Amino acid sequence: MEAERPATRFAPSPSGRLHVGHVLAAVEARRLADELGGVCRLRIEDIDGQRCRPEYAALLLDDLAWLGLSFDGEVSVQSARMDVYRQALEKLKAMGVLYPCFCTRKRIAERLAEMPRAPHGSACDMYPGTCRSMEADERAARLAEGEAHAWRLDCCRVQDMTGELEWLDLNAGPQVCEPSRLGDVILARKDFPVSYHLAVTVDDAEQGITHVTRGADLFESTHVHRVLQALLGLPVPVWKHHGLLCDENGKRLAKRDGARSLESLRSAGMEPGRLLASIEKALAQGGVWKME
Ligand code: GLU
Repeated sequence: MEAERPATRFAPSPSGRLHVGHVLAAVEARRLADELGGVCRLRIEDIDGQRCRPEYAALLLDDLAWLGLSFDGEVSVQSARMDVYRQALEKLKAMGVLYPCFCTRKRIAERLAEMPRAPHGSACDMYPGTCRSMEADERAARLAEGEAHAWRLDCCRVQDMTGELEWLDLNAGPQVCEPSRLGDVILARKDFPVSYHLAVTVDDAEQGITHVTRGADLFESTHVHRVLQALLGLPVPVWKHHGLLCDENGKRLAKRDGARSLESLRSAGMEPGRLLASIEKALAQGGVWKME
């Protein structure tokens, strides 16, 4: 049998113009694919209809072409795949690992304020578990009334079902999976039927991604994705979480720093080769990016 061809992906969300941080992510994905003699796929992660816009998706393709970065095969577009995510969600519901959450953001904030201060970053800071222990009758009645709800992953139950899992990060080494690190994450939102965690896990499997490259800011999410793979019976890739670019003061470059968007760099006359070289240089110097 032919061995699986290594595959990486670049998966931007078109919620604005591409930014130098995105360029780094694209370069990392392309580079690892080339090193492995594999392919690099492109996926437009546009499930959030409030933040993402088709015109940004078009500009994103234009920015990538301007950079001279190429991707293999068809471009996958998440907004066209809602049915696939819905099926995955139904499968998880049938397994009893999700529960409906009727809390508003305000309610969650109030509950957290009432609770004894949890250590910084603990799962309790993220969702206080209000709806996890709701009586079955109340749950059924509120669902029957059509009350707006999200679906959350019951992390403790999941851990009992999957037992101990591991995953490998090519930079950080082997990791023991701790799905509760982000708390009971939302897998389907009130306003649409899927969240980032579910869509990305389903799509990485669908696109045959063997090596997931992405920013270190998503490291914790990988614990969630690893359990979803176990529950949904999906193949397990390896991950490479790369460092993030920052400015001279060590502040992470963010989308709001408009000066680093490709739009402003291009209109200021930046050449693609120079931009790529400046990112390489930043990588060699601990991630500090300066416009050269
Ligand atoms: N769509 C995400 C972003 O633009 C990246 C998700 C991922 O690489 O898993 O930040």
